[in-house]
Amino acid sequence: MRNVARSAAIALTLLAALGASVLLAVLRERRAGSSAVEEVAPGIYHVRNFLSDVYGARAGGGVLLFDAGMDPEGHAIDELLRALGATREQVTHVFLSHAHFDHVAAVRLFPRARIHLGNGDVGMAAHSEPVRPLTPRLMGALLGSAPLEANDPLEGRQRIEVGGAERVLALPFPGHTPGSYVYLFRHVLFTGDSLRIDGGKLLPAAPEHSVDPVANRTSISRLPFLLGYERIEQVCTGHMWCTPAGSAQALLGELLGSLHAR
Ligand SMILES: [Zn+2]
Repeated sequence: MRNVARSAAIALTLLAALGASVLLAVLRERRAGSSAVEEVAPGIYHVRNFLSDVYGARAGGGVLLFDAGMDPEGHAIDELLRALGATREQVTHVFLSHAHFDHVAAVRLFPRARIHLGNGDVGMAAHSEPVRPLTPRLMGALLGSAPLEANDPLEGRQRIEVGGAERVLALPFPGHTPGSYVYLFRHVLFTGDSLRIDGGKLLPAAPEHSVDPVANRTSISRLPFLLGYERIEQVCTGHMWCTPAGSAQALLGELLGSLHAR
């Protein structure tokens, strides 16, 4: 009887291992997936790389990317660059919202780019400290995410010249991760995982996938001060695409109101 139980346990363990390895193989294959490329705001293009959103625009003589997807071979970003009439060598800036594996995978493909990342996430990106929280750490480890060097770490609020008299406003937004940043460019706010869109509303970061959900809410409350006189017309997220054009100010107002009502 004991032998039967042991055999059943071994069989179940093998089945579970087989299931996990099949799932992993499917994920590895599908992470190269690319949607059609779409213009979400004048001159700003979007591609979905399997589960992650990447945005790009031409500025000055170069190309800006907001996040770098989950595919180390960058197939979806190549589609985005094709729509912009550009090559990998023409990417001058990559603005990373944070260091989780599904936002940074293709960074090494852009040899001339300045890689902007919040100082608080530089250790996680370099794998010199553990990735937090647990889910992205495990998923990154299983999918085999490589360490990366952010050659332009960010501290505090910064304006970054991107050519053609244009700038990206980089705003510290700790919470989802310690070094999370949001970026404003041409009145579009790129938020990575620091804001979500659900049911036509803007929501805070998913608490179960965030290092410090309370800090994320504090960052949202501080956003009007960080923005100063800058206007936001659209919010573009890391997994849930963008709000409709022109709706962002009202949606942010609702979100701020809901936080203050708590
Ligand atoms: Zn994340």
